[in-house]
Amino acid sequence: MEIFTSISSWQNWRNVIPSTQNVGLVPTMGALHAGHQSLITRCRQDNDICTISLFVNPTQFNDENDLANYPNTFEADRKLCEAEGVDAIFFPDYSELYPDDYRYRVSENEVSPLLCGTHRPGHFDGVLSVVMKLLNLVRPQRAYFGEKDWQQLQLVKGMVEAFFMPLIIVGCPTVRDIDRLAISSRNLHLSKRHREKAARFPKILAAQAPAEEVARLLEADGFEVDYVQDFKGRRCAAIHCGGVRLIDNMPLYEGNQK
Ligand code: AMP
Repeated sequence: MEIFTSISSWQNWRNVIPSTQNVGLVPTMGALHAGHQSLITRCRQDNDICTISLFVNPTQFNDENDLANYPNTFEADRKLCEAEGVDAIFFPDYSELYPDDYRYRVSENEVSPLLCGTHRPGHFDGVLSVVMKLLNLVRPQRAYFGEKDWQQLQLVKGMVEAFFMPLIIVGCPTVRDIDRLAISSRNLHLSKRHREKAARFPKILAAQAPAEEVARLLEADGFEVDYVQDFKGRRCAAIHCGGVRLIDNMPLYEGNQK
């Protein structure tokens, strides 16, 4: 497995991959877990070469504390990638990826301001900009994104369509813990008590009731609710539990389908 921190070494490696070989990319912010692992597995199945990027992207954080506290587990990430058969890790720093210091950015003005965008101004500009950079550098035939970040997945698909980018965006199902909480790097910040409480989030979200009612149920259970909203066939929500922001979504009324 190769590890590249500079764009020039990455490009030297990328440029000699024969055009007959398909390259897949799994973009991540590191702190890898079973959710990322499922994307890697799918990427390996579909492509000759599986690459992953590890980059905690500052431009998508609207809260400095959130960025400062983002878990950094490079050594464990490296081992997981090795064990999962990843061919190459791209692990650049900010100055490599943002030589323009974010003067240029990709921005979408219809879906970005909704849902998470309402509570995290500028978040999706940061996401789309870094994804555009990574896709241009890696030039994959396919890139893999989790349905857990439903709004992000829709926006990335829209960007690829809008800019005629020559690749397929593959959405992958949300991986959940045994108690159905969506696995997230942020779960590491939950205390034992709040981790137990967080398991009620997906259960309440699956209730067969209007979104406003589900928001009330979550609040009644002690969660601080950013939003519960139906969007493109999904019920999407963001809450705070013990100071940790959690998001989730599910097909409408999935919880009532046995
Ligand atoms: P992140 O490192 O949190 O930016 O996530 C990198 C990618 O992994 C994104 O496409 C996420 O949607 C995806 N992902 C994160 N958690 C999960 C999960 N529990 N199940 C499936 N995909 C996930």
